[in-house]
Amino acid sequence: MFFYIIRQNYANAQKSLLRYEQEQEQELNLNIIDRLSWTIQQSIDKYQNNFDLLTDGSFQRYLSDDHPFEDAQYTPADLQKIVSYFTHNQSSKFMLRAPAATAFADMARAFWNNFDKKKKLYIVSAYRSYGFQKNIISNGCKNTHCADPWASEHQAWLAIDIAVADTNWNILQMHTWSQYYKWMEQNAHKYGFHNTYQKWVDIDGKIPEHRHWRFLGEPFATYLHQNQLTIAQYFKNIKM
Ligand SMILES: [Zn+2]
Repeated sequence: MFFYIIRQNYANAQKSLLRYEQEQEQELNLNIIDRLSWTIQQSIDKYQNNFDLLTDGSFQRYLSDDHPFEDAQYTPADLQKIVSYFTHNQSSKFMLRAPAATAFADMARAFWNNFDKKKKLYIVSAYRSYGFQKNIISNGCKNTHCADPWASEHQAWLAIDIAVADTNWNILQMHTWSQYYKWMEQNAHKYGFHNTYQKWVDIDGKIPEHRHWRFLGEPFATYLHQNQLTIAQYFKNIKM
């Protein structure tokens, strides 16, 4: 009887291990399909120069205090934890929309590699709710610095604020003159990220914020990078 119980337990453990592996494999296949269809869609968009700055669910949605979300209840369906061993703090505490989360993990790895495996990106903040944004405004953050509720790229689950950490746990800010910002400026677009606020209030509507990077997808981020435009400038140009 005793051996029978042990054998049964062993068989059950084997079965659940197999089920776990099958689930993992399915999840992996799904991720591969998701990534593949995303890549194909990106190529089509790039070919057609097809950027959608107006639809709430678009990765290129332009958000400013004058152009908040159409749908006050907007929440994307494709959220994903950031899974990366190459951020200083635990990345999985933060979520972005799935393609942004994956691209950010790729970028964090490239950053770490570039700085001799001694510096890592440090995530300051990613998603911020309507309530959170409302609070920072009512606590006195000026509208030249903070976006209105319903107009924040953080609320779109597309924006991430970052700093840099060294091996001694020092947190270094993304100043314009720093080599870290320069690396981001030259490389972030390859991963689909754009520094939304970099050309002052009269152009971008906010003062420069070098730590704030927003996902747009590689084709549009690269287009803006090559033409030295911010998303606000592009938006104003196509509106005319
Ligand atoms: Zn930000």
